Amino acid sequence: MIINICGGPIGGGGPTGGGPTDGGMPTACVGCTPSNPGPRPSDPPAGQSSDDGRWIFHCYDDGNGLKCYWFWVKFANRLVNPCGGGNVVAPPQKTPCQKTKEILENPKTKPAISFLKANSSAGGEKGVMFKADGTPSAIIQGGEHSVNFGDKSGYQGGYHNHTPTGTPMFSPGDFDQLLNFALGQGNLTVTNAYLGMVARNGMHYIIRFTGSYNDALVTFSDTDLKKYRRDYREIKKNLMDPEKNGSNYINADGSINNKGVEKLFFEITQNMNLSNKISLQRIENNGNVQSVQSINLDANNQPIPVPCS
Ligand SMILES: [Zn+2]
Repeated sequence: MIINICGGPIGGGGPTGGGPTDGGMPTACVGCTPSNPGPRPSDPPAGQSSDDGRWIFHCYDDGNGLKCYWFWVKFANRLVNPCGGGNVVAPPQKTPCQKTKEILENPKTKPAISFLKANSSAGGEKGVMFKADGTPSAIIQGGEHSVNFGDKSGYQGGYHNHTPTGTPMFSPGDFDQLLNFALGQGNLTVTNAYLGMVARNGMHYIIRFTGSYNDALVTFSDTDLKKYRRDYREIKKNLMDPEKNGSNYINADGSINNKGVEKLFFEITQNMNLSNKISLQRIENNGNVQSVQSINLDANNQPIPVPCS
């Protein structure tokens, strides 16, 4: 596979090549570390206004140690490629199915995921982040219907639970956090980023970032997210309305079913301009074996599960 690489998120000039005044290019911070990001740059880059985006702090390991940067990221808008590098041949990548199976079968991730499953029948959300080798972070205490994973430096992805009164599908804020995990992976391994969710009745899904590094250079303002949360509730209400959709998307007890939350995923990611940049996988328990299915859309725009071989 030929992909564009820039030896890190900074273009030809390296960490000192960009700067807060360099027209929207990422900027390095000198001497900053994950636990000590230093001050956020006080002004937007030249030509940018504080209404257009915000600074985001990220660290990632490029194989030569952890590099930390402040990025200027435009709201819901892609930056031009900040990398000035050429093309290189990337190492073979594992398929999304392989990546997810490895996470599920890793003895390091299992206890934390089991803990979150148990927590999904209680109130309140909790989360955990995982490093590339599956090493978990401490359990992160969330709110009633959200978890802020916080600083994601050094982590590949995370898992969280939704609660009995919540929707058993990723929320607009969850997609925003997946983009942050993706940014933290760097250019070559951006598609390793993932987020898992476990909810009542064994509902268990994983979203994976499948876009390019540039696609991950998107962030949403609080106003954007508020709008998308409203859209999400409206889409869900329509799907669950028996007069509009019969029992297509609901269980016998009136709760939303797998097909319903999967349809909700495709509609809300389209609203957020994230179609084809995030993929969805459903995890099912067959006895002691967990099976993974990729959720695609059929010709009629209906979710259809395709088993991982
Ligand atoms: Zn969530």
